[in-house]
Amino acid sequence: MKIETKVLHKGYEPRNGEPRTLPIYQSTTYQYDSAEEIGQLFDLSTDGFFYSRIHNPTVDAVEKKIASLEGGIGALCTTSGQAASFLALMNILKAGDHFISSSTIYGGSVNLFAVTMRRFGIDCTFVDAEASEVEIQKAIQPNTKAIFGETIANPALTILDIEKFACIAKKNKIPLIIDNTFATPVLCRPIEFGANIVIHSTTKYMDGHAVQLGGVIVDGGNFNWTNGKFPEFTEPDASYHGIVYTDTFKEAAYIVKARVQLMRDLGCYPTAQDAFLLNLGLETLPIRMKQHCENALAIARFLSESDMVESVNYPGLENNPYHTLMKKYTPNGCSGVVSFIIKGGRENAMRFMNALKLAGNVVHVADIRTCILHPASSTHRQLTDEQLKGAGISPGLIRFSVGLENLTDILDDLKNGLSEIEK
Ligand SMILES: *Cc1c(COP(=O)(O)O)cnc(C)c1O
Repeated sequence: MKIETKVLHKGYEPRNGEPRTLPIYQSTTYQYDSAEEIGQLFDLSTDGFFYSRIHNPTVDAVEKKIASLEGGIGALCTTSGQAASFLALMNILKAGDHFISSSTIYGGSVNLFAVTMRRFGIDCTFVDAEASEVEIQKAIQPNTKAIFGETIANPALTILDIEKFACIAKKNKIPLIIDNTFATPVLCRPIEFGANIVIHSTTKYMDGHAVQLGGVIVDGGNFNWTNGKFPEFTEPDASYHGIVYTDTFKEAAYIVKARVQLMRDLGCYPTAQDAFLLNLGLETLPIRMKQHCENALAIARFLSESDMVESVNYPGLENNPYHTLMKKYTPNGCSGVVSFIIKGGRENAMRFMNALKLAGNVVHVADIRTCILHPASSTHRQLTDEQLKGAGISPGLIRFSVGLENLTDILDDLKNGLSEIEK
């Protein structure tokens, strides 16, 4: 099946007389005929739903769909993208361990890795994604257990050379985790380039309608956890009567452990209603991504030609430094997010934004409705112009998340905003 078909038919496959569309199983628990069966479920010696903190049939269908879209063997949904990043790493790391991350990643991930996970005794080294393999290898320590990167970085809009990172990970016998939020499996499937685990904030394009926070972890099933570096996978788990994940669940050891151990203990599992809404979003993902990319490229071209715009950052533009990587990793488009710098700094950026009527001033991105954000007056408000420069953010920088409105209407809105600062 191609991806357009998978989004409609994978995960939930009704049998004779069953509902055509995915039902919402609004139940915290599941009934069995005998106490023995419940006991077996708690021992993980048989498969079945027992409590909706770790598994639910509606969520399960969406997990199977997303696993199929990414080319993975299994998936676990979470209540946010942040929870997905955290669980994906905590399933591998413990106090005293270390991991490497590309420095061009989502700001929320930077906080999580640099501050909160450090409080758990887990250390992260941030590396320049453009550095050579030899340079990046220098950051690897004996206790390094994972590498993390983002396909299309939010908000830097850089494209990660996934194969380079996969090669370093493989050489060091550690897994590569990729945040594929902006690309979605429609534009890039990191497992095909050697990634082992893929995560998403489903809050963005996957849901797409700005109604639902969520996240997901996908297991590529292509990593050997028995290589001696990951005893938590190969030694008995006392909390499950001494089960050994790699013995019992083979190539699915990672995703089963994430569910039955971490999700059991941390409990950030979405509800059936959450999954139902996410599923509706997924059903139209390929057609939406196509249009987001088309609109964004046209907008990026238009902005490049404006006298009021200093520069435009969109890897789809031929002169963008990431265009070559874009053609390799996201050849059909690089999402709907464009950033650009307005001439005249902070003041003109504010005037421009205030003149827009269609684009909404919101913190959200990757939505069907066009959104706009001015980092210098919002997410990075506390910084002086000097500090902003240090963070690589120009006072005139604008992040523009192109929606699915008619292109002419979006262009008219932009033209109107630009004419405001020309006055
Ligand atoms: C938004 C985002 C996250 C965090 O997701 P939430 O659903 O907001 O918790 C992680 N990674 C990327 C790339 C994001 O854009």
